[in-house]
Amino acid sequence: MTERPIHVETIGDMLDFGYRLNAWCESCTTSRPVDLRRAAMKVGAGVRPRDLKLKCAGCGGRQVSISVVPPRGY
Ligand SMILES: [Zn+2]
Repeated sequence: MTERPIHVETIGDMLDFGYRLNAWCESCTTSRPVDLRRAAMKVGAGVRPRDLKLKCAGCGGRQVSISVVPPRGY
């Protein structure tokens, strides 16, 4: 019975464990999923989600909140 705690800190971890990231724009209240694979290629897999410089694709606003979505069935 060994349960290893899972530390999901970086976007690389999130990809490994099947986590997803949602971005919510506070300006136009649009919610859309973040393409973690693209983000990992762009800024590196060792970056934490909250350190991503997200910009709203709809209005270009930078007041973007993120929420982590755990893998299904976990
Ligand atoms: Zn927006």
